[in-house]
Amino acid sequence: VAADALLLEQVTAGTAAPRRRAIAKTITLLESTRADHRLRADALLNALLPHSGRSLRLGISGVPGVGKSTFIEALGLHLIAQGHRVAVLAIDPSSSVSGGSILGDKTRMEQLSVQEAAYIRPSPSSGNLGGVAERTREAMLVCEAAGYDVVIVETVGVGQSETAVHGMTDMFCLLQLPNAGDELQAIKKGVMELADLVVINKADLDEHAAIRARAQITSSLRIYGQHGHADHLDETRWQPTVLQMSALKSTGITEFWQTVQRYRDLQTASGRLAARRHAQDEAWMWERIESGLRERFRQHPAVRQALTDTTDAVRQGRAAASVAARRLLDLFKLT
Ligand code: GDP
Repeated sequence: VAADALLLEQVTAGTAAPRRRAIAKTITLLESTRADHRLRADALLNALLPHSGRSLRLGISGVPGVGKSTFIEALGLHLIAQGHRVAVLAIDPSSSVSGGSILGDKTRMEQLSVQEAAYIRPSPSSGNLGGVAERTREAMLVCEAAGYDVVIVETVGVGQSETAVHGMTDMFCLLQLPNAGDELQAIKKGVMELADLVVINKADLDEHAAIRARAQITSSLRIYGQHGHADHLDETRWQPTVLQMSALKSTGITEFWQTVQRYRDLQTASGRLAARRHAQDEAWMWERIESGLRERFRQHPAVRQALTDTTDAVRQGRAAASVAARRLLDLFKLT
């Protein structure tokens, strides 16, 4: 289709304003549920793929109010001043559940959003987490093809969204408040163990609390760290790190970025960055296959016909769940 060739050209090689419009159009196409749009989007995505992958993908998470948008704005401006181009995408599962979003409602990142070298896209607002994550992942590829060399994916600490963001980024950063209660919660939820970097924000409010939190989290990362117990012996492995910051006063931003670069250098040299992306792509393919299969299973005529009776039988104890499942799967197979 001619229009799509033009879109492709504008995304990958356009001048600023047409490129920005082309990115938005492409992402809109990716987010559409219409079958013909999906076909065009798939073709575009495949054509964009060779141009993608050349960015640093940074995940940022933390509870509402911890300072994510303040931080991303400060970091984004810092990076743009150094000549980087920064895209910010968001995954906000709350917007599809409650209709109101935690990340998107307020006017966010006003200074960053007017920068020519920044592109900010709010969370897709409909669909389950899997769908929202899929579209964000695809939007990330579009931004990379358009030359953004730092892509930030932001999420709130709700449900499984942190796992989704961890599963699409090179480095996952968790923002924390300088008080112990929150940090213990994150440990319980298993989120801490996803973190490559923990940032204690709002250190300006209580310096002592921030220092204490930093020490506590550092020691708990040793225990809960994603890489197991003997990892500190292996110098080619990244040790999850804890930093202090005031996003409001822009202190700690330089150290943050230096840490990110150290991480990237180490992970690149050891081959772990590439391995992580390959594993993510493969896991993502299977995630999508499984969700597609479930959908097709439910819509399969023979399965649909038998589903109500079989479900009743299981509920009433007339059939074992495993036997019922096998029968339904056999019906699905017979096409
Ligand atoms: P988000 O919900 O995680 O995106 O949080 P926001 O960035 O909207 O910040 C929530 C509130 O905390 C705002 O009023 C910010 O001005 C404030 N804030 C963010 N970072 C800091 C910080 O480092 N120090 C202080 N004192 N306040 C901050």
